[in-house]
Amino acid sequence: MLGTGHALALRGLTKRYGSFTAVDSVSLKVERGEFLTLLGPSGSGKTTILMCIAGFVAPTEGAVLLDGQDITPLPPERRDFGMVFQGYALFPHMTVAENVAFPLRVRKLGAADRDAKVRAALDLVQLSGFAERLPRQLSGGQQQRVALARALVFDPALLLLDEPLSALDKKLRAELQEELKVLHRRVGRTFVNVTHDQEEALSLSDRVAILNHGKLVQEGAPAHLYEHPRTRFVADFLGKSNFLHGEVRESVPGGFVIGAGPTRILQAVAENHRPAHGSRVLLSLRPEKIALLAEEDAADNVVMGRIAAWSYLGAGYTLVVETPDFGALRVALPTWQAPIAPSEGLAVRLGWSSTASVPVVEDAA
Ligand code: ATP
Repeated sequence: MLGTGHALALRGLTKRYGSFTAVDSVSLKVERGEFLTLLGPSGSGKTTILMCIAGFVAPTEGAVLLDGQDITPLPPERRDFGMVFQGYALFPHMTVAENVAFPLRVRKLGAADRDAKVRAALDLVQLSGFAERLPRQLSGGQQQRVALARALVFDPALLLLDEPLSALDKKLRAELQEELKVLHRRVGRTFVNVTHDQEEALSLSDRVAILNHGKLVQEGAPAHLYEHPRTRFVADFLGKSNFLHGEVRESVPGGFVIGAGPTRILQAVAENHRPAHGSRVLLSLRPEKIALLAEEDAADNVVMGRIAAWSYLGAGYTLVVETPDFGALRVALPTWQAPIAPSEGLAVRLGWSSTASVPVVEDAA
């Protein structure tokens, strides 16, 4: 079952329903053996893209290419892709082994080959001892693993996953996420996954493509996207962020200074990304990049404020700190780093480095 996987490319993929554009000129490459996740809010076009890749939806314009070959006109059965959906879609009257064997029967494989492949697929998802059970005798996580085995058993060119974990409870979802990651490495196939769960996208994928209103807004490795969001939407959708508005007052080596009221904020920037003097800029600042400073502590940026609200989350605290120039700032502190017990109304000094925040573009309305 080991293989090198296939490369997928979308070229100007567009799907219109009447005057409504569900997918708007999406171009994207998925490398051989890569785990790519399409991430976006509800209605952003993720499933439509997956269905165009699978061949169930015909794009209005654009093309789907597999290893450079245009497969847009091919019907789903000629594409030979494996699919796993949110609802496991197992045949309830068939045993686990019969469910997994089904795609091989359709492909008219001989019994000996079929049995060997079913065994290997069940081994792969660690369900060897469950071959004779019926789906209703399995937990949700086990059922989803059977669905994975069934999708992989015929050695598909691509595995397409549509919200495969969203029907499971939180703990089971986390477990299956880990398993899916290991499985991906083991089979060395190209996986394309759809989710609206940002944590799942970050933890599972080699690369994430973020969609909004049918458009691809940014793609990249999870850490790159999280650390370098290009727009406010990406910063806000992928994790939590504070947004600081200000006007560029001064250029300094390696950065610039913005002012918001009397407060000056130092922002690091690459030389070729310097904004014009006097222009309005927007900075994204992650809550976990803000520290609570003691009186003697220094930082590139120091802002005074008062705790307006706080919550204890076990591993850490979340504070909402009201500041005169930037409004409410959300601060996330690991419990062991919290120098004080938070209380409402408490005056605090917030500090962050000039490299902690990133300039982002305000999305078009
Ligand atoms: P979700 O996370 O809710 O599944 P999604 O990002 O997968 O959302 P899609 O299912 O791809 O979104 O839908 C994108 C848009 O296209 C939605 O506004 C949806 O209503 C619309 N749409 C999808 N299928 C059709 C159809 N057959 N006819 C008309 N509009 C459609």
